[in-house]
Formats: sequence, C-alpha cells, structure tokens
Amino acid sequence: MSTIDFGVFIGRFQPLHIGHEHVIAHALERCDRLIVLVGSANVARDPRNPFTYAERAAMLRGAFPDAVAAGRLIIAPLDDHLYSDTAWVAQVQRSVRALVLEHGNGGGFHTHGLADFRVALTGFGKDASSYYLKLFPEWANLQIDSQYGTFSSSDVRSRYFQRIPEVPAAILSAGVADFLRGFMLGETFRALLEEAEFLAAYPAQWGRGPFVTADAVVVQSGHILLVERGRAPGKGLLALPGGFVNPDERIRDAAIRELREETSISDAKGQIPPAMLASFIEDARTRVFDAPGRSLRGRIITHAFLFRLPERRQLFAVKGGDDAAHARWYRFGDLSPEMLFEDHWAIIEEMADL
Ligand code: NAD
Repeated sequence: MSTIDFGVFIGRFQPLHIGHEHVIAHALERCDRLIVLVGSANVARDPRNPFTYAERAAMLRGAFPDAVAAGRLIIAPLDDHLYSDTAWVAQVQRSVRALVLEHGNGGGFHTHGLADFRVALTGFGKDASSYYLKLFPEWANLQIDSQYGTFSSSDVRSRYFQRIPEVPAAILSAGVADFLRGFMLGETFRALLEEAEFLAAYPAQWGRGPFVTADAVVVQSGHILLVERGRAPGKGLLALPGGFVNPDERIRDAAIRELREETSISDAKGQIPPAMLASFIEDARTRVFDAPGRSLRGRIITHAFLFRLPERRQLFAVKGGDDAAHARWYRFGDLSPEMLFEDHWAIIEEMADL
C-alpha cells in the first residue's frame, strides 16, 4: 500500500509527451490512484491549444490503458478562468473532491469524507506556469524529478505546425505520434497551420504592442450581439464587436465606432447614432482585460464596455458590416466557451454576470 490515496496532476498536454508520461508513470507507482486534470478544456482550438479535451483524454488513455482499465488513472476536464484564479482553484477543489469521493468510496454510499483520504499534488516545477502548484497548501506535494530535460509541448507544436510538419517521435509515445500523423492530414490541421503562419507574421507587420483595443458587450433581452469572424485570426469563431483604437479617438468612442461598423445596429428609425449608443453604456461596468497571454498576436489590452439595450420582444436589427465579420444575436444559453475567440468568453462571463 502506498501512503498516498490520490495523486493529482494538472496539465494542458498540448500534446502529451514523454516528460508528462514519466511524471504520470512515477506518480502511479507512489499513489493508489492518480487524477489527471486536463486544463484549458473550455477553449477554442488555436495554435497554442490545438487539441480538444476529448483528443487529449484519448492520448492519455492510449498511453496508460492498463491503469485506466484498473480504475487507477482517472482523467477529467478542467476549465480555465482567465480572470479569476479563485474560480479556477475552487473548480480544482470541487472536481478533486467529487472524484475522490466517487472513486474512494467504490461508487457506492459516501461512507468516507474527503478528510479520510490522503491527497497529494504532483508535478515538476518546470517554470512559471507551474506556480499553481503553490495554490493548494492543503495537499501534500509529490515532486517527481524529470529525467527528460526541459523540452516542452511548445517545442512539439512549433515543429509540428509547419508546411512540412515534423512529428518529433523521440519525445512522443507511439499512440500520440500516430494521432499527430493522422491529424495533420485533415482540414483542422490546415486551418491551424494557416492561423500559426498568420500569427508568426504578425509582429513583423505590426510590432509586438502593447496595443489598445475596445470591445462592446451588447446585451438585450437575454441575448448578446456577436460577430462571426470571417478571417484569421480565429476564422469561424464568435467574437465581441470591437477593434483597435485609432490614434485620435477615445477608447469608448472606438467601442461605439466598431460596434456600428461591424454590426450596423439599427432600430425602427435606422442606424442608431453614436450618442444614443453611448447612452446605453453602463459606465460602472467598464473593465480592462489584460491577461498577458490573452491574444497570440501580441500584448493586446482591451477595454470592454457593457451596452444594455432596452428589453424588447423585437431585438434591434443587425447585419454583418464587412466581409470580416457577420453579426447576429445569440441567446446566452446557446453559447459555450469553445465557440468564442481568445478570452471573449471570460469577458462575457465577467461583464454580463453569467
Ligand atoms: P503542461 O502540459 O505544460 O505541463 C503539465 C505538467 O507537466 C507541469 O507540472 C509541468 O511542469 C510538467 N512537465 C512539462 N514538461 C515536462 C518535462 N519535460 N518533464 C517532466 N515534466 C514536465 O501544462 P501547464 O501549462 O502547466 O497546465 C496548467 C493548466 O492549468 C493550464 O490549462 C492552465 O490554463 C491552467 N491554469 C488555469 C488558471 C486559471 O484559469 N485561472 C490558473 C492556473 C493554471
């Protein structure tokens, strides 16, 4: 019997490589069961997060079929909360408690509580991204030393998203390498490659920023106004109407201008004039969204404005302003995080009180 009932390992696994597998294999030797939480489970595909939760869970199951079959390796999704580490920590705690109680009690009545189980967080203090290992002082620390140097998933991604993709088989298990070889033949790979090339060229054209943008969070009667992006970055994803601030305008005016340009929002009298749109802004809700990694284009700091339009049975009319964007009202209940561009889901969550 090991002294640890449940190990917890958190990672993005974009993709899973032999460094991760080394940690998992060693943790399995030292814990009765290991819970692997697959992070960033709720984000749209992009060159940094190219594989869905389902694809990454399949990579893990393929690498450890026996441990999964024996119920010793438990895989679960974990969503990002970019602007609230507290919400993220709470979700980790809730998820681990539910899994420990379910598996520790053999699926039957919960005769044991969380305090009856010894839980340890495992990982390898690679770099700053591992700061979250310190966010859970209630759990013991199970440090696994790496035998595999400091390579990372980003090395795999930069070699893979090329015109002539390289699958670095030396640092991937056979199942993951096979998956990558199959994936690179499909449409999704081509779209991600196009996006990666766009992003690689971006700093040479525009610099690295910081850039200032404005976004409009426009709500009316349980709906939110979004645009479907017609081109890279994020082609096909939904985004808040918004864009870069011109050198000679105020940020708030940029939000109104972009809203009008991208959606042609109108009432019975025609396009709504800027002053009237301004009157719908709830000033107290204006917020800056500045997560350093929020855009893969560079350092982009956005200011989001909440426009609360009057409740109506007939929503204001909208149409796509140009070929880059197609505007539509969406019911909140029909949206899910992975449909949205960059951190726009997190912005909507914060601004519209979802
Ligand atoms: P990762 O896949 O890069 O790494 C996972 C683990 O594997 C880490 O402990 C890492 O140190 C280890 N590892 C990496 N390379 C290794 C190697 N060569 N040898 C041995 N071990 C190696 O994942 P990550 O980026 O650390 O994942 C963190 C997840 O938690 C992300 O999804 C992130 O978004 C999420 N997170 C979210 C919030 C929030 O939403 N507020 C806050 C913190 C973390």
